[in-house]
Amino acid sequence: MALGLVSSGINTGGFEGPTILMAPMLPVLALLLIGTRAGLIACAVVILILSVLFVAEVNGLISPNPQSAEAQLVTRFIALLATVLVCSLVAWEFARMNHAMLGVMSGQALTDHLTGLKNRRALEESMAKELRRARRSKGWVSLIICDVDHFKHYNDFHGHSAGDTCLIAVANVLKAAARRPHDLVCRYGGEEFVALLPDTRPNGAYRVAEAMRAGLESQKIPYRDQDSDCVTLTLGVVSVAGADIDDMESLLDTADQALYAGKEEGRNRVIAVNLSEGAVVADVNA
Ligand code: GH3
Ligand code: MG
Ligand code: MG
Repeated sequence: MALGLVSSGINTGGFEGPTILMAPMLPVLALLLIGTRAGLIACAVVILILSVLFVAEVNGLISPNPQSAEAQLVTRFIALLATVLVCSLVAWEFARMNHAMLGVMSGQALTDHLTGLKNRRALEESMAKELRRARRSKGWVSLIICDVDHFKHYNDFHGHSAGDTCLIAVANVLKAAARRPHDLVCRYGGEEFVALLPDTRPNGAYRVAEAMRAGLESQKIPYRDQDSDCVTLTLGVVSVAGADIDDMESLLDTADQALYAGKEEGRNRVIAVNLSEGAVVADVNA
């Protein structure tokens, strides 16, 4: 292509020649088809060719274009059109790739790579929206915090990689229990998970939490500790409605307190708090 540019420049009257108009396509095509380095080399080659042609033409070393003025106009038009088309197509393709890449990256920023669940950042974004919505519509919102029981010992006993496999199994159980389209199950950190249940009353939230607890128990992931012979979960649930809805942190704190009450009472249980009616509503296996 570089050779073509040189010969057509010389044979069609240097800067009078229409093919010179196609010079910018060379680095653009090299960039698209081969890569960044080739694009830079092509750019340097084009600058060099144009400079040499310029010096040659200034010194009268290039003979005039032998074609008629009309033929030159038509070929100049075609050359310009081709350059505009190719450069626009390349820019469009880059913009499309950029857009797709941004989508993938923002998805990754909100996803926990071990379990494939949404992460804490995604939870905080959704919670802020759902709490505002529930306050406005005077609806209910519930939150479940789940923590794997004695998981440190599980890791010590079976190894970290078995621990990771166990966390994936827990994530699958939680996802299967929170089935509504707007339910959001996240890995909150380590072996703690949070489920955000919009438009969910205390009884419904309790049922989901109990399905999570029983679901993991029924998987019978072997692990012997003083209380059980399989991996278990303790869950804290909080439900609140309309004007009683406080900020995100205090809701998470309340669910956390319920969770720790469950731990103190012996683990593998659900403790649920109804903030709009102000009492502990359920305590399974107590
Ligand atoms: P409790 O019943 O009171 O919750 O006891 P615990 O041992 O589960 O609680 P603790 O918070 O002391 O331990 C959490 C452990 O979870 C620590 C670490 O060994 C394990 N853990 C946290 N994140 C990961 C992870 O990504 N992979 C694995 N394999 N283990 C993890
Ligand atoms: Mg924990
Ligand atoms: Mg734990």
